[in-house]
Amino acid sequence: MTTPEGPKPVRILFSEDAIRRRVEELARQISSDYAGKGEVLLVGVLKGAFIFLADLCRKMTVPRRVDFIAVSSYGDKTVSSGNVRLVLDLRGDIAGRHVLVVEDIVDTGSTFSYLLELLRLRGPASVKTCAFLRKEKGGPPVDYVGFEIADEWVVGYGLDYADAYRALPHIAVLQVNG
Ligand code: 5GP
Repeated sequence: MTTPEGPKPVRILFSEDAIRRRVEELARQISSDYAGKGEVLLVGVLKGAFIFLADLCRKMTVPRRVDFIAVSSYGDKTVSSGNVRLVLDLRGDIAGRHVLVVEDIVDTGSTFSYLLELLRLRGPASVKTCAFLRKEKGGPPVDYVGFEIADEWVVGYGLDYADAYRALPHIAVLQVNG
């Protein structure tokens, strides 16, 4: 992995082991909530959710499929522009299906709000949300959350800074000043 110039990860917030245990719990809870409802379509929000989604879907026990969508709002910055743009759409139709949107982290909630509005127009049977991390400062309600965190920029387990650090096995805090 190349290490970019600029801020570096300085403190581990969640170890690989803690992440594995929490993802297993989430997968159990989600599988129990969807049991008997038919297939769930997991919609991963690229790029950040790719590792979380891969782990989550392998631990779930109900029938499931996977699709991806990509949006952009941060560019190479650590502050949301608030302007969410669709970069890549789903491959499949979601009409009549149970959709679970899977994000890496919820900050202001603009990404989820945008996606929920977009997906609901397509007539799914249901749409729920799942985020590996959620910043405690507020934002919209999320159906399934891995961990609540303070308002710091975190990297690893799929989450990046300027596209770096996604492959770290743990979640670490980035030192933005210094
Ligand atoms: P929101 O739309 O909720 O403000 O932001 C959600 C998106 O912002 C996430 O999917 C992620 O791409 C990015 N984001 C927000 N906070 C962080 C963070 O602390 N670290 C990283 N790597 N991405 C973040």
